Amino acid sequence: MNLLELKISSAHGVQYVKNLEKATLTPLFRGRPEIDTNISIQELQRAETICPSKAINAKMGILNLGKCVFCKECEFVTQGKIRFTNDYKIATNDPDCLLIRKEISSNIRLNENAIRKEIRSYFGRALKLRQVSSGGDNSNELELYAAGNVNFDMGRFGIEFVASPRHADGLVITGPLTKNMAGALNICYEAMPSPKLLILAGTDAISGGMFADSEAIDRSFLTKYKADLYVPGNPVHPLTFINGLLYLLGRNAME
Ligand code: SF4
Repeated sequence: MNLLELKISSAHGVQYVKNLEKATLTPLFRGRPEIDTNISIQELQRAETICPSKAINAKMGILNLGKCVFCKECEFVTQGKIRFTNDYKIATNDPDCLLIRKEISSNIRLNENAIRKEIRSYFGRALKLRQVSSGGDNSNELELYAAGNVNFDMGRFGIEFVASPRHADGLVITGPLTKNMAGALNICYEAMPSPKLLILAGTDAISGGMFADSEAIDRSFLTKYKADLYVPGNPVHPLTFINGLLYLLGRNAME
């Protein structure tokens, strides 16, 4: 490295986020929601009525993060009794952990007992992923690629996207799973060597989101294969994706 390059490098300083687990996002970021314990049934019903993706069940006092498109309409109609924190660590392997209840306001974590043993022994040090957009709108796809950029630098953990399913340890699905992509999705998954991971990235992939009732959707793939990780977001934030993977792999975000 010559003197000029050293000067440029020093002027740039540290560009990557050092500790991905402790990074702070703007308060405007829509992360883990909370439901005020004093919320009334009428307020919950107003939120349920306005919710465009049927994520709220007023009777049960539940907000399903796997269905939420983070539009924030429920926060407006309940005057903040449903509110969105900027907590981005919202990925989990347990769909029950995506149900936000008014009595409970705790962080979303992975269910350690539900993690397949081979995941950590095979992929703990390196993980190659193939991403398939099944009717996605490019928002999740862009954020996933951003996970590998100079800021988030997912590659420092040995995690990266590869071009061929033959070289991949895991499949990351974005989009609501369309009929048109059903065949390609199966071919891609079957082309990957076992054992393999399955990750659903974004609300559309987890539940179908706004398109759940569309005739163009075919989610039968998910009746055959169980996901190892659900990563909510609309779109997913790179920090949500990376932290979810690191927890799943039993890795330390400071490595
Ligand atoms: S923020 Fe989520 S839960 Fe609230 S109205 Fe929008 S989609 Fe429904």
